[in-house]
Amino acid sequence: MGWLVWIGLLGAFLVALARLRASFFTWSLVVAGGLLVAGLTDLLAPLPGLVAWTVFLLVAIPLNVPALRRMLLSDPMLARTRAVLPPMSQTERDAIESGTVWWEAELFRGDPRWERLLRVAPPTLTSEEQAFLDGPVEELCKMLNDWEITHELNDLPPDVWDFIKRQRFFGMIIPQEFGGLGFSALAHSEVVMKLASRSVSAAVTVMVPNSLGPAELLLHYGTEEQKRHYLPRLAKGEEIPCFALTGPWAGSDAGSIPDRGVVCKQRFQGREVLGLRVTWEKRYITLGPVATVLGLAFKAYDPDRLVGDREDLGITCALIPTDTPGVHIGRRHYPTGAAFQNGPNSGQDVFIPMEWVIGGQQNLGRGWRMLVESLSAGRGISLPALGTGSGKLVARVTGAYARVRQQFKVPIGRFEGVEEALARIGGWAYLMDAARLLTAAAVDAGEKPAVTTAIVKYHLTEGMRRVVDDAMDVHGGRGICMGPANYLARVHQTVPISITVEGANILTRSMIIFGQGAMRCHPYLVREIQAATDPDPAAGAEAFDRALFAHMGFTVTNAARSLVYGLTRGRLAPAPVLGATAKYYQRLARMSAAFAFLADLTLLFLGGSLKRREKLSGRFADALSFMYLCSASLKRFQDNGQPEAELPLVEWACKYSLYQVQNALDEILRNFPARTLGQVLRLVVFPLGRRFRYPNDALGHAVASVLLAPSDVRDRLTSGIYCSEDPADPTGRVEYALRRLLEAEPVERRLRSAREVCPPHVAYDDWLDDLVKRRVVDAGEARALRESRRATRAAIDVDDFPPSRALEAAADVAA
Ligand SMILES: Cc1cc2nc3c(=O)[nH]c(=O)nc-3n(C[C@H](O)[C@H](O)[C@H](O)COP(=O)(O)OP(=O)(O)OC[C@H]3O[C@@H](n4cnc5c(N)ncnc54)[C@H](O)[C@@H]3O)c2cc1C
Repeated sequence: MGWLVWIGLLGAFLVALARLRASFFTWSLVVAGGLLVAGLTDLLAPLPGLVAWTVFLLVAIPLNVPALRRMLLSDPMLARTRAVLPPMSQTERDAIESGTVWWEAELFRGDPRWERLLRVAPPTLTSEEQAFLDGPVEELCKMLNDWEITHELNDLPPDVWDFIKRQRFFGMIIPQEFGGLGFSALAHSEVVMKLASRSVSAAVTVMVPNSLGPAELLLHYGTEEQKRHYLPRLAKGEEIPCFALTGPWAGSDAGSIPDRGVVCKQRFQGREVLGLRVTWEKRYITLGPVATVLGLAFKAYDPDRLVGDREDLGITCALIPTDTPGVHIGRRHYPTGAAFQNGPNSGQDVFIPMEWVIGGQQNLGRGWRMLVESLSAGRGISLPALGTGSGKLVARVTGAYARVRQQFKVPIGRFEGVEEALARIGGWAYLMDAARLLTAAAVDAGEKPAVTTAIVKYHLTEGMRRVVDDAMDVHGGRGICMGPANYLARVHQTVPISITVEGANILTRSMIIFGQGAMRCHPYLVREIQAATDPDPAAGAEAFDRALFAHMGFTVTNAARSLVYGLTRGRLAPAPVLGATAKYYQRLARMSAAFAFLADLTLLFLGGSLKRREKLSGRFADALSFMYLCSASLKRFQDNGQPEAELPLVEWACKYSLYQVQNALDEILRNFPARTLGQVLRLVVFPLGRRFRYPNDALGHAVASVLLAPSDVRDRLTSGIYCSEDPADPTGRVEYALRRLLEAEPVERRLRSAREVCPPHVAYDDWLDDLVKRRVVDAGEARALRESRRATRAAIDVDDFPPSRALEAAADVAA
């Protein structure tokens, strides 16, 4: 009994200290107090008591007495850190220092303050933005025929180009004072999402000028004159921009571009001016073949010291009119399945005056910083919107198709195998939209969350890949045979584009998310590194000791939190809400503590070499990402007013995410470089073993059911995409069939119970006429049955072509 009280008290203290984010000194006082009480109450026999005191004093005294700690711990660790700290290039330093940290830092640090998440205002559009979505965006969607775009024209039709320019789609991020639409990140995201549900080629065309490119760079770094000249013209579509960074020798390692500009003086428009002679070779540049203004990244050199005392100035960005002599544009690549303009461009010794450098001469060499600082908005908005648009389209149309398509006399969506795929589609569509909305809210609140945007870029494009693959399986041949009626195959073909651009996904997962997360979100790591690299060794040593001591308290606190929450299955963790989702907040808090503790110990153990351990880093990225996705789902549910009907979706999203976090941490421990240490850490991370399970079959069934019939929750899940019930429209045809099928279903049921079945040798229409004649059904019911049958046939039909055309189509696909 005494022991039980002792353990209870210990647990209570641990929880209290963990909640209070206690310092190492406080921890020491409490442990000393505990030992004292245990000794006085005879809970601890004299010998074990002596051992416990000895161990405690050996640890606590050196660590709490600064001089001793410096001598025994901080200074040796500082020396080791200085020796092993990998050299950091300026590009890496810029990447690490750029942007802000936000909600992901709360998850990273092990004790998420939920009020911070729930305080974020629910996403809302202004009336102007909503009117734009209901007006020009809806109209543009109606104009888009993706088969015509991708197969017949390999381009957007001229009237679509005109409409896009006229309605200022290219100026969404340009403020109204410069003639743009001045939209929020949310509105930008909604526009791209809706267009993506209609045509990926059109969505990319609109997305690129609004992402990282001339407009974004000019807004932040342009001179007043550059802004006044370009922004109104870009907003009205009088200039078509592109941004050229990638080349044959520099893809993911964009900082290594060999393209160069040499500072020189040359006669230009009748006078001698200071400028750069630029030589470059770029590829994969979106809108490049039709661009009128080329945003170009190159490395600037000043061998004659015309602008300062350095030769190597660094990456620089300039805006070059494409009609400048020596600029070569026009040739096109043919990216898989898409028809947006994309191609190489080059220039040899092209002279550009200094005022073409974005921001002018003072911005020579500041290009990389400009790029990484501006990257997060585009990366966190455009591609996630594109992925979510495709995900929502797939959820809506695959559910409808799975209901109208019957095999073995049963809608295929009712088969458990298909249901599994539908559940993944529905659950992922929910997760993706939740993360998209939360990230847009952060950007609109002025954040530039570098880690979050990498997370959503990676997971919302991977989510797109996953749901589109599932949708292809559910559609069978209907998804494979290409033609105007196929709404899926082009999306499927274009998935690798989203995976590759704006930070290829393998690199984003294995290097960026956790690598940048550790540097930006960890409360002490950067302070320790800064101290270790302080040019003043004495000041550095003192700062290092202070940071290390605080770091120790942080680690112990997270260990205690992880252990206690693990032992109580998260029940002692705080939950900011009541009701069905409260437990997911608690479980997430538990995983956050476990993550923080494990990440800390791994960083301590591996130091700078973690940079090369991409498999471990990738798993940490997964854990952090799924915590973010899970919290986004909880936030979305809360923002929507906790609707009962949405519960299966949020539960699926949370269970799935927690299961992924658990798997990632488990795999880290299983592959921990020091086996024994890995086993010890496992006791703290999973004291009761791995308890989270994949969403069960009943939950999967509930999620799949949402997709199979029209309802408010299905509409909410797929809100914001282009929806049609027009039987002449490729996706509208399937929705139309679903509605007609459901209208006819009661009559069909009645006929089945009356054992009225169409005989195999009788045509369906003749059988219906006979039923009317025999007054089994009335004329209206027969019409409903006939229309349902006709609409279903249209929904399951695929295109076929005359032999010559089919060959042409095959050649097109093969190309
Ligand atoms: C359709 C399309 C449009 C594009 N539009 C533009 C544009 O408008 N402007 C522009 O400048 N660029 C553009 N790009 C370029 C795009 O950003 C690059 O393709 C991308 O950066 C990857 O470069 P890469 O294709 O050369 O692949 P590579 O860099 O050769 O990478 C190949 C693979 O290796 C992985 N990898 C590389 N390094 C690492 C690492 N350290 N750790 C783990 N994995 C790694 C990558 O993740 C990838 O999976 C576009 C590309 C495409 C395909």
